[in-house]
Amino acid sequence: MKKHSYTQTQFLIEIAGLLAFAYANIVLWVRLAPDLGSDDVWMIAGGVLVAGLSADFLSGLVHWAGDTWGTEEWPVIGNSLIRTFREHHTDQTAITRHGFVETNGAQALTSLWIPMLALWLERYSSFWGLYFGMLALFMACTGQIHKWAHQERAPLVVRWLQKAKLLLGAEHHQGHHTVPFTKSYCITFGWMNRTLDGIRFFRASERVITWMTGAEPRAYEMTPAAREAAARARTQRA
Ligand SMILES: [Zn+2]
Ligand SMILES: [Zn+2]
Repeated sequence: MKKHSYTQTQFLIEIAGLLAFAYANIVLWVRLAPDLGSDDVWMIAGGVLVAGLSADFLSGLVHWAGDTWGTEEWPVIGNSLIRTFREHHTDQTAITRHGFVETNGAQALTSLWIPMLALWLERYSSFWGLYFGMLALFMACTGQIHKWAHQERAPLVVRWLQKAKLLLGAEHHQGHHTVPFTKSYCITFGWMNRTLDGIRFFRASERVITWMTGAEPRAYEMTPAAREAAARARTQRA
């Protein structure tokens, strides 16, 4: 297996990402809080629920993209994003040994644009400020929630939330780590998995991408001969 290569530079960049993310969120919620009153309870509940469903869907989309396309040789994201996805399938428990910054830093950094967008939208609409604020928080927590789903003994309150299906459950997530490893991609709450798997959303997306680009899903698992045979079959079909 390839050596885990989390560098000190990555660590420092991710600390900066976490601090910037925390700062943007504090400014957002200080601005937003005075606009939200007891009359807005249904708007708040609706915004939080839709943000939760959106974050879960996006976690599935990014996870599927990482598991299905690309190789570790790709520039920039190859050695960070794609490598992390590949490693997780060869060693599920590796993420349980990651510290706080390694678990959450990259998520905070890549989600930073969302509280910034929320700060801009909040001036026009409390709902969209709240929606994007909650979306950013849920997305930034995804790495931690996924790590808890793999931990032998997650904190008691987390296990309680997992049982209540308010966080991704360990047993539910094992559905993804079961052959053929092509379902239950959503890793924030797991709420969208049944629907997306039921309508075969990711298989349909793979067919569209293969049709548009000629790329084969999970080509890194195929032998060169199998890749050639798939390409030949595609040309004959066209
Ligand atoms: Zn995966
Ligand atoms: Zn996992």
